[in-house]
Amino acid sequence: MKKVAVIGGGLAGSEAAYKIAEEGFQVDLYEMRPEKSTPAHRTGNFAELVCSNSLGGKEITTGAGLLKEEMKMLNSLVVKVAEEFSVPAGGALAVDREKFSQKITQTLEKHPNINVIRKEITEIPEDYDFIIIATGPLTSEKFSKKLQKLTGAEHLYFYDAIAPTVDAETVDYSKGFWGDRYSKGEGDYFNCVLTEEEYEIFYQELLKGEQVPLKEFERAVFFEGCLPIEEIARRGKQTLLFGPMKPVGLTDPKTGKQPFAVVQLRKENREGTLLSMVGFQTKLKYPEQKRIFRLIPALRNATFVRLGSIHRNTFIQSHRVLKPTLQLKKNPEILFAGQITGVEGYTASAATGILAGINVSRMLKGKEPVIPPETTMLGGLVRYITEPKEELQPMNPNFALLPDLDRKVKDRRKRKLLKAERALRDMERFAQEILFIFY
Ligand SMILES: Cc1cc2nc3c(=O)[nH]c(=O)nc-3n(C[C@H](O)[C@H](O)[C@H](O)COP(=O)(O)OP(=O)(O)OC[C@H]3O[C@@H](n4cnc5c(N)ncnc54)[C@H](O)[C@@H]3O)c2cc1C
Repeated sequence: MKKVAVIGGGLAGSEAAYKIAEEGFQVDLYEMRPEKSTPAHRTGNFAELVCSNSLGGKEITTGAGLLKEEMKMLNSLVVKVAEEFSVPAGGALAVDREKFSQKITQTLEKHPNINVIRKEITEIPEDYDFIIIATGPLTSEKFSKKLQKLTGAEHLYFYDAIAPTVDAETVDYSKGFWGDRYSKGEGDYFNCVLTEEEYEIFYQELLKGEQVPLKEFERAVFFEGCLPIEEIARRGKQTLLFGPMKPVGLTDPKTGKQPFAVVQLRKENREGTLLSMVGFQTKLKYPEQKRIFRLIPALRNATFVRLGSIHRNTFIQSHRVLKPTLQLKKNPEILFAGQITGVEGYTASAATGILAGINVSRMLKGKEPVIPPETTMLGGLVRYITEPKEELQPMNPNFALLPDLDRKVKDRRKRKLLKAERALRDMERFAQEILFIFY
């Protein structure tokens, strides 16, 4: 009987296979490239970076920076090799992408416990004790169909139409009011109010905003119905007022009247530290989003923890189908890792690969799988993708995912630093505990 199959040799699959192999278990690592590629990959290398060569910030006061420090404590292959082949990029960890993915490929190919199999998987393999699925945002079509069957068709999404998310602490609550349309519900929405003049300025700038060009393979997505906000605006000045900015059913308690226009913010997590701009999916370039969305008075000084985008992206509704250990609820021998779980970006994808690898290794040793502490960035991400919510939209590492400190600290930078230090202490303890139990 074979032991473990890892499907997909991207950032997550590479970490997962390496972790399990280093724990002394045999792994079959399946990768369809170079025989069959995705629309974004160019080589047959493992852990190929398909776009930017940056793995995000280095400082522990950035989401990606903290996550990388935590990953080092869990012996991350990706971070080790990234540091070895880093190129100067200010505060970011950027790499020579060729050397980076070549080194990871060599490491995995040479590993005595890893058997690399270059073929497209089109069925869930049967003769393994454990399977990790890490086929990424561009999972092949045939396998996507199998995943639809495995998770339920309604739980596999083929694209993300992401609206920006703001850090709730940075919203000016004097420029709007809490309340649901027609007072249905418990006042879950914050309505950012715009006067006619403010709307006019916002609308004109939205029309002028520079957009990210769509990739050829993303065009179909665009026409599937989820229109970017700037596209709605292009259909006429009134269209937004009947769409995502409609004020109908809302009364501003300050004036007793219906506002001219509103932008609704909805809580994205249990604590309400993240608020998403309802219906504001967009293809505007990132600096343009910040410039234009800050014209909304309540968001003048907002920090955007995630900006909007529309991408092709295959991902599961993890909050319905996965446990926080990354195991499939209905079939715990199957785990998911990487962007397909609803995390976003190279670093977060790789980090969930490590967790899947740790959990499979533990189960092979007859131990219980683990969940990282919620106070760590990895724990916060895993909690975010698996905790109950209406719909999961992908999430990158950011500080709003971390629980509050047990005392009030006014200064934002100081607060982040304290949260980061707590995360590293807790991750160190977690890493030691799982090491101790391993041996
Ligand atoms: C166009 C594009 C641009 C992006 N730009 C950035 C960026 O600049 N920065 C950033 O942080 N993130 C970016 N991302 C997100 C990025 O893809 C992910 O963050 C990261 O690569 C995901 O890691 P992963 O391991 O989950 O998937 P991947 O790295 O995509 O790895 C999945 C692997 O599975 C293989 N595979 C798929 N189907 C099968 C199958 N049936 N059988 C066998 N193998 C299979 C694929 O060939 C691939 O090697 C981008 C994504 C896309 C699509």
